[in-house]
Amino acid sequence: MDAVTALGPLPTPGREPDVLDARELYRFFRSGDEETRALRGVTLGVGRGETVAVVGPSGSGKSTLLACLAGLDEPAGGAVYVDGVRISHRPEAERARLRARRIGVLLQSGNLLAHLDVTANIRLARAAAPGRPAERVGELLDRVGLDRRARALPRELSGGELARAGLAVALANAPDVLLADEPTGELDGHSEARILDLLRTEARTGRAVLIVTHSPAALRIADRTIELRDGRIRE
Ligand code: ADP
Repeated sequence: MDAVTALGPLPTPGREPDVLDARELYRFFRSGDEETRALRGVTLGVGRGETVAVVGPSGSGKSTLLACLAGLDEPAGGAVYVDGVRISHRPEAERARLRARRIGVLLQSGNLLAHLDVTANIRLARAAAPGRPAERVGELLDRVGLDRRARALPRELSGGELARAGLAVALANAPDVLLADEPTGELDGHSEARILDLLRTEARTGRAVLIVTHSPAALRIADRTIELRDGRIRE
């Protein structure tokens, strides 16, 4: 085990350590004789209050990176820390427990169960992180503008409402880190602006927000943009 893995991330003196801290991530996929090097030494950090956009052409490794940051996938090399706690290189159940408590994930495919209404979806996410301090479901729905849709099923929601309901689920356990994969890909301009505004507001409350996106509007609200090319960060 190297020093970084053993001791956790070393903060830069005079600067608060990044709440999301990924060091030298590698991830390879093999099928037969073919090897795809999806991530080749990606290092990045996102501080509290910061919104970072990740861009790159199709196949550059964005989804693989997001999955490794969320603890949904394991990097072959390197490590991911959230608020100083290593989330990578742990059994899947432990990663799931850490993710439930510390990371909100907003996936393009949606993160709502179809047969549960909005409130039940939020309660289900809460059940995965017992004891985690959380605001009332009504307040959370109010914050994302869905106070009148608490009992609606996902199929009864508009595209914009669905995205905001997904955000409410991602925020259910007051995560330190919010990761979003193309959160506005399917939305009209008005709904997109609303989601981006909400993401920005969440960052300002002290979360670290990372958005994989192609949207010019999302790039405009980001404090920083990281560009991936062939599994590496393009400087
Ligand atoms: P992006 O999200 O930027 O489009 P991905 O992270 O999906 O890129 O993919 C990066 C590379 O890894 C691509 O070449 C892709 O084909 C490959 N890849 C991703 N997931 C798998 C997998 N499960 N099996 C094999 N190859 C994969």
